[in-house]
Order: sequence, then C-alpha cells, then structure tokens
Amino acid sequence: MTRVLLVEDEQKIADFVIQGLESEGYQATHKIDGLAGLDTALNASFDLILLDIMLPGKSGTEIVQIIREKEIKTPVIMLTAKSELSDKLLGFSLGADDYLAKPFFMEELIARCKALLNRNKNINTDVITVGELTLDKVTRRVNWRGRSMILSQREFTLLEYLMRSPGNVFTRQQIMQFVWGIDFNTQTNIVDVCIQRIRRKLINTEKNELSEFPIESIRGIGYKIKKSD
Ligand code: CA
Repeated sequence: MTRVLLVEDEQKIADFVIQGLESEGYQATHKIDGLAGLDTALNASFDLILLDIMLPGKSGTEIVQIIREKEIKTPVIMLTAKSELSDKLLGFSLGADDYLAKPFFMEELIARCKALLNRNKNINTDVITVGELTLDKVTRRVNWRGRSMILSQREFTLLEYLMRSPGNVFTRQQIMQFVWGIDFNTQTNIVDVCIQRIRRKLINTEKNELSEFPIESIRGIGYKIKKSD
C-alpha cells in the first residue's frame, strides 16, 4: 500500500486530490494546517508527501526544511500557486523533489507521484524490479520466472541501463556508448550479442518464452524493457 500525506488547507483542492490518489489505490492522509501536517510527517511513515505552500501554522517550505533536517528522506511534491514562484525555488533548495503549479490536472499529479515513487524505489534498494524481472546490484544476479543467473559486468550494465527506464527505446548507438564507451559509428554487433547472452541465460527455449521476455527488440532501432502493468 502506497501511503501519501497531503497537507492542504483548501478543502476543495484536498477533496479533489484525495479522490485522485484513492482512485490510484493510494492511501491518503490529509492534514488541513501546517502544524498538524508537520507533526504527522515527523511521526508517521509515508511513501510520498504533497505539500501546499501557503498554510496556516507552518508553511510548506518550513515543513520541508524541518523534515529534511530530521533526515526524513520521503519524496516531497510542492503544490504551488503560480504567484509563489520564489517559494517554489526556495522549496527546491530546502529539499523538495518536485512541484506542481495550481491548477493542475489529476493525471499530471499522478504521473509525478509515480515518477517519484519509482525513482525512490530504485535508489533506495539494491534490487531493481520490472515486472517479473529483478536485478540485484550487489551480486549482479538476475532473476526471471524462478530462474536466477549471474551476469557478466557488461551484461549487467546493459540490463541495468534498460531497466532504469522501462518503456524507453534505446538505440544500439546509445547502448554502445553507455556500456562500452564507444561513441563512434561502427558496424559491430556487440550489443545484439550481449542481449542474446542475457536472453539465453534466462529463457527456457523449450517453453518458447522469447516473446514474453521483457527485453524487446525494436527493429532497425534498438531495444527496450517492456513496462510492467
Ligand atoms: Ca493554501
């Protein structure tokens, strides 16, 4: 369960945000003033905090400053009115991760929430997960459908590169540059060979699993990791 703290003094906006969060399956806790918001942020654990800036009691910028001083690293999105640009910049310097200007579309807020939650998930753990595929950064061990193998350094770097941005298509050139440091045009097929080795380590050929494996070839371009649903 993803827990989100919302500190917002305008009940209408709060209702709108809570409804959006709950429709995503998030559990929303709402506090209507800055003091209660700060107290809750300090004493309960959340995956994400949404902070209005202009609040009675304590402002959103004060709250983010205090929770960062207390070493609470929960990602924070500031919800700002357009006129509060300087507060927004201040919020960033005090440790906010993102901001959203009011009025905003719920789709945009949810997209920002997801981006931060994903980023946090992958930064704070040694394991990157996309669907059924997991990659352990410490042991270089990759798991898929109960099969577990150790990758070589190049295979690991390549797979991690793709898994960091599920759904993004990377060209062979981009992959070559990132994994091998080759930034000139060459006819080599090292990328394809490396991808084949990763697939061979994990795919059960008898079960014809190639099309289900999350590394997808994009013809004439390169590769991507399929997004998990
Ligand atoms: Ca306000």
